[in-house]
Amino acid sequence: MTAIFTCPCTPTRTYQDCCGRYHTGQLASTPQTLMRARYSAFVKGDIHFIQLTTLPTQHSALDLKAITQWSNNSQWLGLEVLSEALEADQRHAWVKFIAHWQDELGTHQHHENSLFIKPAEQWYFYDPNIPLRAERNAPCPCGSTRKFKKCCAPYL
Ligand SMILES: [Zn+2]
Ligand SMILES: [Zn+2]
Repeated sequence: MTAIFTCPCTPTRTYQDCCGRYHTGQLASTPQTLMRARYSAFVKGDIHFIQLTTLPTQHSALDLKAITQWSNNSQWLGLEVLSEALEADQRHAWVKFIAHWQDELGTHQHHENSLFIKPAEQWYFYDPNIPLRAERNAPCPCGSTRKFKKCCAPYL
């Protein structure tokens, strides 16, 4: 018999039918789905997926060691996605969520309203710890082909 594992993000679904397929290469079609897959990757310690789904122009500044440590030292208890809001341009979106986790100090709730950006075909998480900056008329540092002022500037 094959073992069936529930998905960390949604206990009523199997990992295979939920976040598992995104961890093995399928692209998440909505920011909310990507948020869930990133949460499940944290639970599973799949730091490579966390890196892959962060805005590519932020990769070099990501502190993978700190992310790995945080993932290893926390026990994740659940995710609640509260809302997903797409901006009019369909390339920026906000996902409001609460992640529940536990470490040696106790249980914690992490509330966040995360920005997701779609520079071209794919949604990415914007890491607010690594702010993107550019001149207003320069190409947007998110990697899209538009000017900063017409792309990410209004949302940062
Ligand atoms: Zn899932
Ligand atoms: Zn941009």
